[in-house]
Amino acid sequence: MDFDDTPEEAEYRAGVRRALEEHAAELLHVGAGEETVDAATAEAELRRTQRVLYEAGLVGVTWPREHGGRGGTLVQQAIVQQELARARIPALVNHIGLGMCGPTVIAHGSDDQRRRYLPRLLRADDVWCQLFSEPAAGSDLAALRTTAVRDGDDWVVNGQKVWTTLAHVADHGILLARTDPQRPKHAGLTMFVVDMHAPGVTVRPLRQMIGSAGFNEVFFDDVRIPDSERLGEPGEGWRVALTTLMNERVAIGGAGSDLGVPVETLVAHARQRLPQLDHDRQVLARQAVGRAVVASLATRYTGYRRFTELSRGGVPGPEASAGKLAGTAAAKLVADAGVRLLGDDAVYAATAEGDETWQRSQGFLPGLAIAGGTDQVLRNILGERVLGLPPEPRSDKSAPFAGGAR
Ligand SMILES: Cc1cc2nc3c(=O)[nH]c(=O)nc-3n(C[C@H](O)[C@H](O)[C@H](O)COP(=O)(O)OP(=O)(O)OC[C@H]3O[C@@H](n4cnc5c(N)ncnc54)[C@H](O)[C@@H]3O)c2cc1C
Repeated sequence: MDFDDTPEEAEYRAGVRRALEEHAAELLHVGAGEETVDAATAEAELRRTQRVLYEAGLVGVTWPREHGGRGGTLVQQAIVQQELARARIPALVNHIGLGMCGPTVIAHGSDDQRRRYLPRLLRADDVWCQLFSEPAAGSDLAALRTTAVRDGDDWVVNGQKVWTTLAHVADHGILLARTDPQRPKHAGLTMFVVDMHAPGVTVRPLRQMIGSAGFNEVFFDDVRIPDSERLGEPGEGWRVALTTLMNERVAIGGAGSDLGVPVETLVAHARQRLPQLDHDRQVLARQAVGRAVVASLATRYTGYRRFTELSRGGVPGPEASAGKLAGTAAAKLVADAGVRLLGDDAVYAATAEGDETWQRSQGFLPGLAIAGGTDQVLRNILGERVLGLPPEPRSDKSAPFAGGAR
C-alpha cells in the first residue's frame, strides 16, 4: 500500500484539520496522560463533542447518505480517525452505537426504525449500548437466558445482562433475548431495540481496576417492548447478532491503528527515561521496547494491508479476528515496556511528571483481550476457519434449549 495521501486525500485531510481548528473551542480534548474520558463524568461534553463533529461532517463518514451518513470511503474514515487522535479528541461517546448498533439497524431494521433512530444516534442525541453478554453466556453467547414473551402487541422481558459498556448513560440498547426455548439454542433468539429509560430497567455500574466504571450490570423486570421495536424476524436473532459481532471485531481489530498507546509515544518516552535507569534495568528496558516496537509495527502494517483490501471492496473475514488478537498482544507489550521505563516511579498511580498513561493502559488492556471475543475464542476461530482444523465437538447444537442444552 502507498502510505502517502493522494492529492484528493491530502485535500480531504486539510479540510478535516480546518474543521477541527475552527470548532476547537466547542470540542472536548483529553489531557496529558489520558487516553479517553469517563462517560459518566463528562457525558454532556462528550455528547456535544460528537454533535459538533457530526455537523462538521466527521461522524458517520462511511454510512450511506440516506441514513444521515456521508457516503465516504474507508480511507476518508481512517483520515478522520487519525486527525481526531492527533487533535486529542477522546473516543466518541456513541462508539458502540456507531460501530455496532447503527450498522445492525441499517442491515436489519425497518425503514421506520432507521428513520427514527439513525440521525439521533449520529448526533449523540441518543447514546446506545449492546446488551448481549450474561453471567452464564459470554463466549457461548447463544446460551443466554434472558427471555422475551409475547403479550398482545408487546414482548415482556425478564433477565440480566452484564459487562454492558455505556449502559449507565445509554438511551437505547440492542437486546438479544430468548423467545422460543423449545428450539435449539441458536434458533430461539430474537433481537430488539430496548428503551433504557423504560420501567423495569435497572442499571448498576461495575468498577474496573483502573478506577472508572465503564460497564454495568443491567436487570430487566417485566420490561415491555412494543413489537414495532423488534429488529428482524422472531427466531432470527442469531443472524442479526452476527452482523453486530462482525462489525465489533472490525471496529476493534480493524484498520491497523494501535489499540493502546501509540508506539511512537513509547519511543519518545524511552528516549527520555532510558538515561535515568541503571545499567541492568536499561538493558531489560531496551529489550522490552525493541520487542514492543517490532510487534506494533508488524501489526500496524498487516492492518494496513487488510485495510487496503477492504477499501477495494473486500469483505471482512477472519482477518479481523487475527487483527484483534495480534493488536491486543502488541498493545500489552507497549504498555509493559512503558511501565518498565518508569522504574521505581511505576509503583505510584501518577509519576513525578503526573503521567499515568502507562499504568492506565496496562490496567485497561486485559479487558480488551476479553471484550469482543477472548484471545482463546479468537484462536479457535482462526484454527477452524483459516487453518481448517476440525471444529470443537458441539453436542448441544441441535437439541431444544429448554431440554437442558447449554
Ligand atoms: C471491557 C469490556 C467491555 C465489554 N462490553 C460489553 C458490552 O458492551 N456488551 C456485551 O454484551 N458484552 C460486553 N463485554 C463482555 C464480553 O463480550 C465477554 O466478557 C466475553 O464475550 C467473554 O465472555 P465471559 O466474560 O462470559 O467469559 P467466558 O466465556 O466464561 O470465558 C471464560 C474463559 O474461558 C475461555 N473459554 C470460553 N470458551 C472457550 C472455548 N470454547 N475454547 C477455549 N477457551 C474458552 C475464555 O477464553 C476465558 O478465558 C465486555 C467485556 C469487557 C472485558
